[in-house]
Amino acid sequence: MQNTFRNTFDKYDWDTLEHDIYGFSEADVKSVLAKDKITLDDFKVLISPAATPFLEQMAQRSHELTKKRFGNTIQMYIPMYLSNECQNICTYCGFSMTNKIPRKTLSDAEILKEVAHIKSLGYDHILLVTGEANRTVGVSYLKHAIALIRKHFSNISIEVQPLDQEEYETLIAEGLYAVLVYQETYHEATYKIHHPKGKKSNFNYRLDTPDRLGKAGIHKIGLGALFGLEDWRVDSFYTALHLKYLQKTYWKTKYSISFPRLRPHQGEVQPKVEMTDIDLVQLICAYRLLDEDVELSMSTRESEIFRNNIIKLGITSISAESKTNPGGYAVEPQSLEQFEISDERSTDAIKDMIQSQGYEVVWKDWDRSYVNSFYK
Ligand code: SF4
Repeated sequence: MQNTFRNTFDKYDWDTLEHDIYGFSEADVKSVLAKDKITLDDFKVLISPAATPFLEQMAQRSHELTKKRFGNTIQMYIPMYLSNECQNICTYCGFSMTNKIPRKTLSDAEILKEVAHIKSLGYDHILLVTGEANRTVGVSYLKHAIALIRKHFSNISIEVQPLDQEEYETLIAEGLYAVLVYQETYHEATYKIHHPKGKKSNFNYRLDTPDRLGKAGIHKIGLGALFGLEDWRVDSFYTALHLKYLQKTYWKTKYSISFPRLRPHQGEVQPKVEMTDIDLVQLICAYRLLDEDVELSMSTRESEIFRNNIIKLGITSISAESKTNPGGYAVEPQSLEQFEISDERSTDAIKDMIQSQGYEVVWKDWDRSYVNSFYK
């Protein structure tokens, strides 16, 4: 059997982890916070309910570590939805196959119209998003889209269906920089409930996607779980376990973590486990204490107030003015969104908010600017 994350994953048991995480005491938290180096076992303690009263101390340390590694900077990115066609059923998504919505995939002319709008806002880092529809938005569509827009951006990321290693290699050769692939939940039985049909119902294929990306030599991989499907603490432990495994195995690749919480959408599913704002702050700080180098990313799913307050606590990249419908910026602003965004402020307003807190807005990823010179 090939060595992939599945082998590491199989050494852990969800219920045992849950029991551990909910069993820690304040004394356990104090002893972890006295350490210089935080391990995965320590991370478990820091995401436990026992650590909530120590949030101030964790936030201070997270702020200092982030400042030391990333300076006073926040990177800006924007998603561009290319298609809402999808052959999967996901219970929490407005684009799910059985939802009766008009389906759309952007043509070349429409992509360029969206790009012109996005460029006018100042962005240099774009995240291309599609549903999972192999016939319409498979590798050849993505390859073509990257080739079409690469001269406009120094950093192109995708959040699309998981692909095979060779397919990733093709897209990397075309100029792809990063891939975001969230496991949604690491609870296998719950995963099956929320992904009953389509390619995404294959838990293992998704779980091993970052391995295929690492083998393909991708520059950056984004991980995360969709909070609300299962207990966020246990899902976050598995995400951290995944991160540490990948860093050790594919050490040339950079990593980022995102924190999506369930948002309202067409075909509602209610969160099974609620994650409060305080919980999310605790988690962001715990990740930073675990890892000084990992990028922590915050989308417009979160509210204005929350995003204003989280800037100094460990986040390194943030999106703004996002539209979650294909053509949402300039082509068809009224079409149906994948989910409702919460922070609807303009790019300029977000830029002002970041600068007012003493941070510099960064549009380019410096590493990528260097790599990109080979494509020009
Ligand atoms: S989450 Fe992705 S795969 Fe699932 S229905 Fe939505 S677009 Fe399709």
